[in-house]
Amino acid sequence: MQKLYKSSVFIFLLSFQIGFAQQPVKPNSVDIYHQIQKLNFLGSVLYIAAHPDDENTRLISYLSNDKKARTAYLSLTRGDGGQNLIGTELRELLGVIRTQELIEARKIDGGEQFFSRANDFGFSKNPAETLEIWDKNQVLSDVVWAIRKFQPDIIINRFDHRSPGTTHGHHTASAMLSLEAFDLANNKNTFPEQLKFVTTWQPKRVFFNTSWWFYGSKEKFDKADKSNQTQLQIGTYYQSLGKSNQEIAALSRSRHQSQGFGSTGTRGEEDEYLEFLKGEKLNDKNNIFEGIDTSWNRIQGGKAIGDILYSVEKNFDFKNPSISIPELVKAYNLIQNLSDNHWKSIKTEEIKKIISACAGLYLEAVADVQEATPGSTVKVKLEAINRSSIPMTLNSFQTVPSVMTTMEITDLKNNKSVSKTVELELPIDSNYTNAYWLNENGTDGMYRVDNQLNIGLPDVLRDIAVTFFIEIQGTVIPFERKVIYKYNDDVKGEVYQPLDIVPVATSSIAEKVYIFNNDRTKAITVKVKAGKDKISGNVKLQLPENWSVSPSEIPFSLDRKGEEVMAVFNVSPSREISEVEIKSIVTIDNQTLDKQKIDINYPHIYKQMVLKPSVAKAIRLKIKTKNEKIAYIMGAGDEIPKSLQQMGYQVEIIKPENISAERLNPFDVVITGIRAYNVVNALAYKQKTLLDFVKNGKTMIVQYNTLDDLVSKEMSPYPLKISRDRVTEEDAEVRFLAPNHPILNYPNKITAEDFKGWKQEQGLYYPSEWDSAFTPVLSANDTGEKPKDGALLVAKYGKGNYIYTGLSFFRELPEGVPGAFRLIANMIAIGK
Ligand SMILES: [Zn+2]
Repeated sequence: MQKLYKSSVFIFLLSFQIGFAQQPVKPNSVDIYHQIQKLNFLGSVLYIAAHPDDENTRLISYLSNDKKARTAYLSLTRGDGGQNLIGTELRELLGVIRTQELIEARKIDGGEQFFSRANDFGFSKNPAETLEIWDKNQVLSDVVWAIRKFQPDIIINRFDHRSPGTTHGHHTASAMLSLEAFDLANNKNTFPEQLKFVTTWQPKRVFFNTSWWFYGSKEKFDKADKSNQTQLQIGTYYQSLGKSNQEIAALSRSRHQSQGFGSTGTRGEEDEYLEFLKGEKLNDKNNIFEGIDTSWNRIQGGKAIGDILYSVEKNFDFKNPSISIPELVKAYNLIQNLSDNHWKSIKTEEIKKIISACAGLYLEAVADVQEATPGSTVKVKLEAINRSSIPMTLNSFQTVPSVMTTMEITDLKNNKSVSKTVELELPIDSNYTNAYWLNENGTDGMYRVDNQLNIGLPDVLRDIAVTFFIEIQGTVIPFERKVIYKYNDDVKGEVYQPLDIVPVATSSIAEKVYIFNNDRTKAITVKVKAGKDKISGNVKLQLPENWSVSPSEIPFSLDRKGEEVMAVFNVSPSREISEVEIKSIVTIDNQTLDKQKIDINYPHIYKQMVLKPSVAKAIRLKIKTKNEKIAYIMGAGDEIPKSLQQMGYQVEIIKPENISAERLNPFDVVITGIRAYNVVNALAYKQKTLLDFVKNGKTMIVQYNTLDDLVSKEMSPYPLKISRDRVTEEDAEVRFLAPNHPILNYPNKITAEDFKGWKQEQGLYYPSEWDSAFTPVLSANDTGEKPKDGALLVAKYGKGNYIYTGLSFFRELPEGVPGAFRLIANMIAIGK
């Protein structure tokens, strides 16, 4: 029987997003003055580290806001390998969130943002391993590219290149690559393919942004020889903003919400230390720009521009910034004649922003839809308003895609809005909106980006734009605006979102992993979503031949864009143990559509859409289970309950505050989610009830917790000391310390084979000391390290069993790693 039912959800307007992350910038007089000061400073700093959150926002804010330098942060990765404290996105989707968090952070501290193609593949103990998993040459090439493109005078490393093994391998690697790139960027024989687009560049000097932290204690740092260090007093109070530098830095750092880095600003003097590493030595240790002309005289033809712009700065009228416009337009014209293309393009963009801000010139291009499909027509409303007495005209505009539209030259009179609606035809071969670094399949260590010009760019590429050609003081200046979408929300007010180009239809499979633990057929639901009105076609599930699926395809039709339909397929597994990929494929008029669309909506970032192949994993296993009933107490968030249900267990998620002997009575096993003892306060006073549950003959399994902020010191019935021990090499050899222990033998015989195919790591925060009541079961270690025996500890307590494990079940089960399923089945069955 064909199953088809419709859900009448129109969710192209999701109601829980807040748009304040992307309101257009509306600069006031103080902002404009600050922009003019930055326009008149021709020096730059590139800060280099490995992850979102490594960057020192105090220093970035100081360099950008106090020194007025162009300041950028090159984060080698997008932070894909971390944990997510605000939602369930992991891996590349977490990378998308952290990318946006960095972009938002830079909007606050005034920096710019770059990345490399390196993938944050997870924790790495040393740079040698890191550079093996990354393609070292490619990442080095990306650092050289960033230097040649940004042309920093100064590079600052967050980490010490001389101390491998003392911090995350990515950290040390970032500093090593930075130093290597410092030596190579000016060599025309290094990565010569880049020189089609950029020139070679030699930064003046490179520093290491040291701190007491690298010395182990403040006392040690106080005593250290600082003759090679520059001390910067970064506690500037910005009177015009009413904020200290550290307060701005804290606001910026607090954008890292997925990492829980909310941060409180401080006030008053504070020092940062820069250790000189290479380049031209400083005579005056207080002037990091020594020997660099940071005035307009730096560039050929710059003096005349400086003459104009220094007086604009000096004579700036906070009550009426528009009086600067005639001089600014003169300077704009001189900038257009510069032969130095690097500074020409930077300063052109800066001065255009200043001119429009001084005029209160507001330009906007708003689409009538948030999502559109290739080949469709989008109505775009243009708005232009000049709010100054400076005469100007709107001469023409150009849309991308499409061509120049000449129009009657329209006066932009003071405070009189001009609007016009245009129809924009999207070419049938328009690119879908997507994080560009996810378009191609990369490797574990690298994203694949084929177009050199895109490498390092922080954000999703959005081509659809309108350029307004506005004549001011006899000069026609092009102002480009991306086409956006906005709507009014009754609660939040004006909400801005991007215009996304989406496929005509997308589909998604309900679960990421399906576990077939017997021959029985499972129903697999596929959701098809319309990207435009009135579509019809077929959807099918593709599986290898020895699996069967019925029906072979299901027809559907959808009337409205955003509408969804569910199609249910019956899938029977192969007889043999196997692991296969399921794909859902939609066919509409011979067009094959195989993507799923994932929306990411958080109030602190711009709405994101990611397109990925619509796939799931199906695994045929033969795991023996004993039909145990499991109570699960959620910790910081994981998908283990779903995985256990897939295995056939009855799983119930219990609210910590509802834990009582009575409530737990029907269950055989209690499992705590990851970091439960870090985040669930109720566990502190429910611990006795939980341990009594064990004492009375049941089982409790506690998954990893970190060292910081444990809600209770008595997590286990016997002393146990958590450490930072971890085994990050997912394929490290696992030795059986207690080969005859039931947990390795019943009901499933566990062998070395069961530790093959693990993802990212084996486990983390293993206990390093434990009471003799515990039996350590497994031992493993990363290359060159001592054995770590604390991955899986089992103790009898009363009539029951208590198990503490740092093994990464939260990664392995959702990824469908068979051995992890077999082992957890034995842990659940212990005592049976
Ligand atoms: Zn880091």
